[in-house]
Amino acid sequence: MIPFSPPRIDEKNIEAVIEVLKSGWITTGPKTQLFEQKIKSYTGAQEVLCLNSATAGLELVLRWFGVEKGDEVIVPAYTYAATANVVIHCGATPVFVDSAPNHYNLDIEQLESLITDKTKVIIPVDVGGFPCDYDKIFEIVTSEKQVKKFKPQTPEQEKLGRVLILSDAAHSLGAWYKGKRTGILADMTVFSFHAVKNLTTAEGGAICINLPSSFDPSEVYKHLRLLSLHGQSKDALAKLTGNWEYDILLPGYKYNMTDIQATIGLVELERYDSDMLPRRKQIFSLYDLFLQQNSSIKTPLYKDEFRETSYHLYQIQIPGITEEKRNEYIKKIMDKGVSVNVHFKPLPMMSFYKTQGYQIQHYPNAYRLYTQEISLPVYYTLTDEQVSMVSKTLNQVIP
Ligand SMILES: *Cc1c(COP(=O)(O)O)cnc(C)c1O
Repeated sequence: MIPFSPPRIDEKNIEAVIEVLKSGWITTGPKTQLFEQKIKSYTGAQEVLCLNSATAGLELVLRWFGVEKGDEVIVPAYTYAATANVVIHCGATPVFVDSAPNHYNLDIEQLESLITDKTKVIIPVDVGGFPCDYDKIFEIVTSEKQVKKFKPQTPEQEKLGRVLILSDAAHSLGAWYKGKRTGILADMTVFSFHAVKNLTTAEGGAICINLPSSFDPSEVYKHLRLLSLHGQSKDALAKLTGNWEYDILLPGYKYNMTDIQATIGLVELERYDSDMLPRRKQIFSLYDLFLQQNSSIKTPLYKDEFRETSYHLYQIQIPGITEEKRNEYIKKIMDKGVSVNVHFKPLPMMSFYKTQGYQIQHYPNAYRLYTQEISLPVYYTLTDEQVSMVSKTLNQVIP
């Protein structure tokens, strides 16, 4: 069986983990601090906070911005549950936006009509690693009309004076948009280092801060860090080297990254541009080559005049087919020994969201893109022969 997306584990990251285990310091400490610095220089962000997941990062940003009951947060219908669940955790209401007609990413044309005086945040998702058009999103939220509509209720909201753009970049570390990397395309950006993501620490995530000059990024970093560790005035390392006594400044959460995770991340980030991204790019090109002869398959858009993907998901479309037909194809492909996947079943189709009154009929593009989608295996150790085999299987199954 060709797996879908196994993590790349080799001697280098195994050695690094052993070193941390033997060092006597396994929780948040020097490796996590170093990993934050490295992500900061990689992305150009003002500050970076590492956490135990992207979900934690999304939630912390919403908490920091004061999102609560009565507020609305605009999220794409076409995403993983994390993007919307965190809005529910805060007691606020997710307002779904449909995908663009020809791409999984949210339809920017529909944003204007969805923003109300309750909207506090928009969470664009870079689906598959392809960045959203952030300039266009900012153009809307900074327009005089939308700024007037914004009703600040916390000091942070007052300071920003408009809807916050929080990028869910769980897929898009290393992607490009107009000469900039993800991490500095939105006010706040959250990466995921979950086991299936391009860069993994087993589980993990990071918040990149890129706020306007009305904010002090180091203050925001300190506050988010406090929120991530029970509001405790000193972390374990600071207690060890100083006075034992600490205070609880606010009722925070427990979202910190461990040094075991960070050390894997350090190994992976070091070789991300030189090794991981080029190999994924090659795999994309090979799929393009092998599948373009099949007129039933539409290969994905992952590069245009101002954007380039992080090569996270190779998402094909089979135009005109039903959900049942797609699932039938997937079964046949799996039976031939190839693991494929679907990204994503839109959230308005999920039981919980249905009970909240959301209906998929209101998101026709997301529904169509979902019913016709199959994601193919992409991972570092996938060989050219395996890419060829996967393609052959697809060309056999999908006439
Ligand atoms: C994986 C994923 C997340 C959540 O990441 P975790 O690190 O597992 O919390 C959020 N959004 C999207 C789009 C994802 O694919």
